[in-house]
Amino acid sequence: MSHAPHIAEEVRRRRTFAIISHPDAGKTTLTEKLLLFSGAIQIAGSVKARKASRHATSDWMEIEKQRGISVASSVMQMQYREHVINLLDTPGHKDFSEDTYRVLTAVDSALMVIDAANGVEAQTRRLIEVCRQRDTPIITFVNKMDREVRDPLDILDEVERELGMPCVPMTWPVGQGKSFGGIINLRTQAMTVFESGSERRPQDFEAIPVTDTATLKARFGSEFDAALDSMELATGASPAFDREAFLAGKQTPVFFGSGVNNFGVMEVLDALVDLAPWPKSRTSSLVVNKETVNKEVLPDDAAFSGVVFKVQANMDANHRDRIAFVRVASGKYQPGMKLKVQRTAKELRPTSVVTFMSQRREAVEEAYAGDIVGFTTHGGVQLGDTITDGSVALQYTGLPFFAPELFMTVVLKNPLRTKQLQQGLAQLGEEGAIQVFKPEMGGNMLLGAVGQLQFEVVQHRLKSEYDADVRLEGCQYTGARWITADTPTELKAFCDAYPQRLARDAADTLAYLCTSPYDVRLAQERFPKIHFHPLREHA
Ligand code: GDP
Repeated sequence: MSHAPHIAEEVRRRRTFAIISHPDAGKTTLTEKLLLFSGAIQIAGSVKARKASRHATSDWMEIEKQRGISVASSVMQMQYREHVINLLDTPGHKDFSEDTYRVLTAVDSALMVIDAANGVEAQTRRLIEVCRQRDTPIITFVNKMDREVRDPLDILDEVERELGMPCVPMTWPVGQGKSFGGIINLRTQAMTVFESGSERRPQDFEAIPVTDTATLKARFGSEFDAALDSMELATGASPAFDREAFLAGKQTPVFFGSGVNNFGVMEVLDALVDLAPWPKSRTSSLVVNKETVNKEVLPDDAAFSGVVFKVQANMDANHRDRIAFVRVASGKYQPGMKLKVQRTAKELRPTSVVTFMSQRREAVEEAYAGDIVGFTTHGGVQLGDTITDGSVALQYTGLPFFAPELFMTVVLKNPLRTKQLQQGLAQLGEEGAIQVFKPEMGGNMLLGAVGQLQFEVVQHRLKSEYDADVRLEGCQYTGARWITADTPTELKAFCDAYPQRLARDAADTLAYLCTSPYDVRLAQERFPKIHFHPLREHA
């Protein structure tokens, strides 16, 4: 494949990251400030407002409103210092963790927001695990320093333990809560003085060189001395910042601040530009002479390719169209371009192609690796699909589906709505809202989820979007494993032995349903050559 120099230049300008946190740590606030200071939005409050107006646009979002959680994740693009920054929000509720994991496959780095009073919380821990598995570089922002919070050394210690990698402080707080004086920037050796309020721009904060000890001591007294001491301890205990180590997911730069007060936020924005990586090559598989081989696709390859990491029903209940969120992996997307879905070898004709600016969707003019493009379609696209310009044959790997741990049987209240139910389940399954299993022996469809709330969303959406009123009933299954075998004969022997335990998911992949963990062990002992997969990667 040929490389295009101007594409390489565009790729190098891109930073695509996810913002992760436990609910209430301040993710929405920080997102808004990042947008504000990059100039993407003019007034504060609009991200929150948008979050609220999203509630109003669709009925099933009622669930989100009632529970005060964010179900859907969203994408925002901004320009800052000649760079294009793509920010991907992640749903905070644990029941939607599958969706979050998939969002994390579409980014090159992550910004972790921690509430300084609470440290690393449960939901953050799971997200960290996924980042760690993929060696995703993580920037840490310790938020709410204007509150009575924990000792910064204590927080660093906890982050280090949870992340399993050293923290490298880039800024250091002077005091906290009522006596929060500001932060010392370790690189510039200047202290930025804190003032509360949400009107101030980052450049409006006063900065005093650390060498001006007389002034700093006079103004911040013992807080300043204590900060110097603890800063010395922290820097003494941590390695120097090493960009290679950070990029390899082996250390995290840490920033302190207060999002709601616009404080310490610019440092994070600059870190994204200066430290975070631009898009790298991605692994794809392709079939050569009937053999599947792995291939690294470079972001500046001339051929356009991208992977669908999220499919979302349009909020408008009157239309059946859906938006496929594609992370561009290589080449350049241009309007009017012919597109092909690798899995089906069919042409994709989206009704619209949009990019996600901070507050609006805009028609895409061009997009490069790292950018997120939304294709509106009436179907034909699934999670994990690879979209290309047709000049290359490749299928990206690595989009994870996790074996569900909760199962329900779907019972239709009005049998005349069978067709609508099937259509609804097929589409919700393709969207990844839930996993749908069709038993090989026939009978009611099964729904598999990772979180209980997924069932409620699906039940609600089946009714409101497909007019299919269903009852969900418990069933005996507690797990599933995707099945593969080295030879068709082995697979057939296994299928003959467990016909009533087999089902196919939305991607038509065969799965074995179990009622207890022993099931898998027994089946494995009986059929040692069958592979039982707890995770399916789209391929
Ligand atoms: P999310 O759930 O992580 O998106 O959190 P939000 O951004 O909605 O913030 C949760 C709450 O914390 C809101 O009431 C914010 O106003 C508040 N908050 C956010 N950042 C700060 C901060 O730096 N200091 C203080 N005191 N409160 C903050």
